[in-house]
Amino acid sequence: MLEPAVEARPWAEQLELDDVAYRAQLDYLFGRSAFYRGKLTAAGVGSAREAGGLDALAHLPLTEKPELRETVTAEQPVGAHLCAEPGEIVRIYSTSGTTGTPSYVPLTAGDLDNWITGSARSYAASGVVRGQRIVSTYNAGPFVAGAALASFDRIGLCHVPVGTGNTERLVRAIELLRPEAAVLTPSYAAHLVEWTRERGVDLRGSSVERVLVAGEPGGGEPAFRARLEEGWGARVTEAMGVGDIGVSLWGECEQQDGMHLGARDFVHVELIDPDTGASSALVDGAAGELVLTHLRHRAAPLLRFRTRDHVEVRTGLCACGRTSPRVRCLGRTDDMLIVRGVNVFPSAVREVVTGFAPRVSGHILVVPGSPGVKQEPPLPVQVELAHGVTADDALAEAIRARLRDVLVVSTRVDLVPWGSLARSEYKSTLVRK
Ligand SMILES: [Zn+2]
Repeated sequence: MLEPAVEARPWAEQLELDDVAYRAQLDYLFGRSAFYRGKLTAAGVGSAREAGGLDALAHLPLTEKPELRETVTAEQPVGAHLCAEPGEIVRIYSTSGTTGTPSYVPLTAGDLDNWITGSARSYAASGVVRGQRIVSTYNAGPFVAGAALASFDRIGLCHVPVGTGNTERLVRAIELLRPEAAVLTPSYAAHLVEWTRERGVDLRGSSVERVLVAGEPGGGEPAFRARLEEGWGARVTEAMGVGDIGVSLWGECEQQDGMHLGARDFVHVELIDPDTGASSALVDGAAGELVLTHLRHRAAPLLRFRTRDHVEVRTGLCACGRTSPRVRCLGRTDDMLIVRGVNVFPSAVREVVTGFAPRVSGHILVVPGSPGVKQEPPLPVQVELAHGVTADDALAEAIRARLRDVLVVSTRVDLVPWGSLARSEYKSTLVRK
């Protein structure tokens, strides 16, 4: 553990500390945030005192990304939730804008430090330790993932940045510099397995013992993870952040049973029913949408921010000694389809299909029959065959039946030849939009 005094603190004690931080944060919001002063007053809460503590948080309104975007003007390019003075801001990131135009994420020096602290705890949970080498494939460009790279310095790793989109350079760095760890998206990790196999490169025999995946769901799904671990000959753990809240907030430990909250102290976690917005208890086995609240953020803090991430929660004791709840990401609302009332995440479809390896390559593409979220069954899914495998009706039928049994969704499975679906060196597109 990077900070045992924090990471192994009893969770009840954490919540007491968070309650104090939260009340101070509310004071700050009423004093500095035009956005929250207006929003909370409109909801009948006129002061921090009236809002109460964390136990009353669920009575406050949720914050949605589009609301923030609506307050953006030429004079106020960040939005009305900006609280800090220009001179206090040391960094302005952009979110990659999966659902619209990019938006700006400003940070004060303290915010940035907290981001790096949380991210360092999350990545250190994977088991990487001071003195080891890690090769990274994220560009330290405009996007928040750049801040994660600073956390490798914090852990004390020797960081070998290779950047995105140069597989040959990455493989050469692994062969020559012999890093113990690699950090990349799960899609790229899967691509590397194929790429090296085709060229006779021994990835399994490489120095890499730990593969840290982040940036999209999938790394925690058992069948997909098993494929990655088999291909790399390494342990695979995942991390997850939320652009507007913080980078790599969550990181999985060596127990591989969900991601711990590395950003404890800085962020408070809630779960809601995504359909009704009603608060659900954060108990073992609960599932729902993650809602996050900044506890100490200064530049553009958010209250009850809807992340669009659907997760499953674990609260049982973890053998690693970290006491925070753990989550496994089931998928993102932005990618979700509703097929006759059933929520379908493309990453979950991929997980079921991957169970048919080695006959399939693990690449899929959901091809919605109509625009929008709601779809009529059967949902068309292209499933790519493995190298040298030819299509047969029995396999398509078996996949269709498994998808129906596991995800309760009726699909039409079209087997497509190996190599016909796009590979990604960053994030995969699992749905044709
Ligand atoms: Zn653990």
